[in-house]
Amino acid sequence: MFDEMRPEVLVVGAGPVGLFTALALARRNVNVRIIDTGVWACTHSYALAVHPQALDLFAQFGLREKILSESYAVGRIAFCDQEGTRVSLEAGGEQHPLAVVRQDALENLLEDELEKLGVRVGWRHEAAAVAQADDHARVTVQKFEKESRGYIVAHTEWVVDKTWELEPKFVVGADGSNSRVRRTLDTEFPEVGLAQYFAVFEFKTDADLQHTVRVALDGGTMNVLWPLPGGAARWSFELPDYRPSAPDPVEALRKAGFGDFPSERQKDRVMLSHGLDLPVLDEEHLRRYLRERAPWFTGSIEKLTWRIVARFEHRLAKRFGAGRLWLAGDAAHLTGPAGVHSMNLGFWEGDDLAARIESVLRGGAGAETLASYDARWQSVWKQLHGLERVPAAGPQTDGWVAQHAAQILASLPAWGAAYEDMASRLGLITA
Ligand SMILES: Cc1cc2nc3c(=O)[nH]c(=O)nc-3n(C[C@H](O)[C@H](O)[C@H](O)COP(=O)(O)OP(=O)(O)OC[C@H]3O[C@@H](n4cnc5c(N)ncnc54)[C@H](O)[C@@H]3O)c2cc1C
Repeated sequence: MFDEMRPEVLVVGAGPVGLFTALALARRNVNVRIIDTGVWACTHSYALAVHPQALDLFAQFGLREKILSESYAVGRIAFCDQEGTRVSLEAGGEQHPLAVVRQDALENLLEDELEKLGVRVGWRHEAAAVAQADDHARVTVQKFEKESRGYIVAHTEWVVDKTWELEPKFVVGADGSNSRVRRTLDTEFPEVGLAQYFAVFEFKTDADLQHTVRVALDGGTMNVLWPLPGGAARWSFELPDYRPSAPDPVEALRKAGFGDFPSERQKDRVMLSHGLDLPVLDEEHLRRYLRERAPWFTGSIEKLTWRIVARFEHRLAKRFGAGRLWLAGDAAHLTGPAGVHSMNLGFWEGDDLAARIESVLRGGAGAETLASYDARWQSVWKQLHGLERVPAAGPQTDGWVAQHAAQILASLPAWGAAYEDMASRLGLITA
């Protein structure tokens, strides 16, 4: 068991990236503590696929087969229009698939692995304030408990039960899109593309989805069909003209200057609405999107199990950290859902950060080791965001692919050399 009161590294946030980063640190024998404001791991699948490259990383931790056993394996990615498939490519194939796994199943697996190494997630713990000195960080941690209140009408409320200070050598901010660690670093988090809204539906279907993810490109919209384990499917339809009728309440508070508010799990923030209260989420709309954008989908819609409208921003932090505070996952970048990039690259960032922190703590490596973490991931993300070294169509490229290059590139489930390789198989070449 690691010493919880004197960790060498504090990971803030127990989403998939924070959990994996803590595991990568614990396996290197770094004394790590991980906390999250949430009551427990997330209860639904948001990001739903683990890239073939990330499975390679999980293999180093002995977790590849466990993840595959809970997954639906996807070997191909097909790009379609209203008529059907225009072009498709192997996304790993049978031997090296994309693993479609529920995010909650993945988080539970990572939490179990951490426990085996003696690291318990501190749920209901908030990093309420973060600061850094020359050779350590300082974090004020608050632990919440439920308290019964009220006389006439009894109710329970979350209240701060305990507050204390930790002084770890490093803090990893895996604390999601509204990251407090990033805000402490005072680094900008500019938009690098337009925000997109998607209506997301999950349902049981009799369609044979043939281990293929399908991206339907129609009239400038991007629509994605994911096969899910257990005979289910997820369709996400881009809503280009969608504007929420009520402003996002958290965004409104932020604009009013309440920068540190609130502390609930930030992944829930981008979820604008569940269920039946929005017309764009009724079954009639689902059938209309299918008729208009993917009439080739003739599978049944047996039981709608989940539907939401989600907003996806495209942002990239100006730096991935400095001194004693470093970022991984959604805390450093946000992007659209189709390529499942933010979570998957987050795993690699977390592992990379763990190795670099270990070498500083144990091997006497200098500050440049961490500075080059920033440079490396800035460069990878600038490519994925279409800001530099963007694979481009040439004279030989299929016309339809050339016309839809930006959307196709955003959907490729890979990064770095593997991403460039996938793009080149479609005739999109990196100069
Ligand atoms: C509805 C929805 C659908 C999505 N669909 C897709 C998809 O199809 N494809 C895709 O790639 N991605 C999708 N995503 C995004 C995906 O879920 C994220 O990219 C992924 O969860 C990022 O993981 P993370 O660990 O970096 O951050 P998160 O999962 O956001 O975890 C951050 C954690 O930090 C905790 N935290 C925050 N502040 C503090 C604090 N001060 N103290 C302690 N803890 C704190 C939060 O409680 C949270 O648990 C979707 C998201 C949503 C909401």
